[in-house]
Amino acid sequence: MAKLTVNELNLLGKRVFTRVDYNVPMEESGGAMVINDDTRILATLPTLKLMINSGAKIILTAHLGRPKGERVPSMSLRPVADKLAGLIGQSVDFCDQCIGQAARDAAAKLEDGGLLLLENVRYHAEEELNDADFAGQLAGDADVFTNDAFGAAHRAHASTAGVAGIIAARGGQCAAGLLMERELQFLGDELEAPERPFVVILGGAKVSDKIKVIDHLLEKADTIIIGGAMAYTFKLARGFAVGDSLVEPDKTGIAQAALEKAAERGVKFLLPTDNIISRMNDGTWADPKVNSAEDIPDGSEGVDIGPESVARFCEVIAGAKTILWNGPMGIFEDSRFAKGTFSVAKAVCEATASGAKSIIGGGDSVKALNVAGLGDQVTFMSTGGGASLKFLEGKELPGVAALTDK
Ligand code: AMP
Repeated sequence: MAKLTVNELNLLGKRVFTRVDYNVPMEESGGAMVINDDTRILATLPTLKLMINSGAKIILTAHLGRPKGERVPSMSLRPVADKLAGLIGQSVDFCDQCIGQAARDAAAKLEDGGLLLLENVRYHAEEELNDADFAGQLAGDADVFTNDAFGAAHRAHASTAGVAGIIAARGGQCAAGLLMERELQFLGDELEAPERPFVVILGGAKVSDKIKVIDHLLEKADTIIIGGAMAYTFKLARGFAVGDSLVEPDKTGIAQAALEKAAERGVKFLLPTDNIISRMNDGTWADPKVNSAEDIPDGSEGVDIGPESVARFCEVIAGAKTILWNGPMGIFEDSRFAKGTFSVAKAVCEATASGAKSIIGGGDSVKALNVAGLGDQVTFMSTGGGASLKFLEGKELPGVAALTDK
């Protein structure tokens, strides 16, 4: 169901309670917490500028880290308020509470086009419990709710679903921010009716994390390419030896069921036919080499896809019109085992340059593209991790369900 978007609202003079994702990496430096990467703050600027220009009084709420209901000073959002002020070029009020009289007073003082950031909402255990009374206090006197925090939309928390319910019950509108709208467009609409061939590339550590995504996408894709450690559970299900590779032996049944569903539906299901193998020796990887056989010898682990698999996968990617990629092809954090992942990254960008739509489903594939300096050469990179996967399973996210239908 299409959701209302912030640019469809009349916000002049309205108090707008806005959930954003400011869960940014921070580090202590000289006794203060410093933001390492401001990507998530930058990502909210289009929505904030639109609301500022519309004359909204903007109350921002976010979480940072996992303070588990305690006031943990290193997880304060205060540095984020300063950073945001610099990036957006206007002052940002900060309130060291997210509920209570201080928060109400700070919100009441806002002028049209003003910005207020409330303290870490997870300083209160009631946030993750979606406590109704806490949600009511958070909502305060807000007229409108907007949500730009796709990365937090898979959880029904007070600041994602609770406040929306309260504002909707008062007759207020609840809308997606511009970033949220793009996530819903690319991970949702674009994959519902993809231009074909639609090629899905999945990698990473565990089949169990992504089996529901595979199951859902088997109903949409023309080809599914599997790399990373999760390929070994499929190889085991097919009767190959996997040596000491990271594998989930108790998941061969679901892997087999996915292989059968692919065969029934005529979906091509590609597994690596060769690998880079290595041995763990005293905590370091030893003897990396190409293993051209389908079987992996005892004592060795598959740590990346091999050259034959790289060539085969890249050829299929080159012919795609829609590409979805989630998860690395190997242990790409070690440069000796990164070739498979970076070759796939390059192939995805080349296909994009030739007219394919490429959608990167969050997590480590985003990291790999950024490390390779290719982040701007794909159509869309999701900002979500767990939320992207849940959405790709075809599930409605509670934070999205709570928004007003169009
Ligand atoms: P995920 O979060 O499920 O996408 O998994 C990402 C992690 O999977 C990365 O940290 C990779 O190092 C790891 N990974 C990918 N391939 C392998 C492999 N063949 N063996 C062990 N770990 C792997």
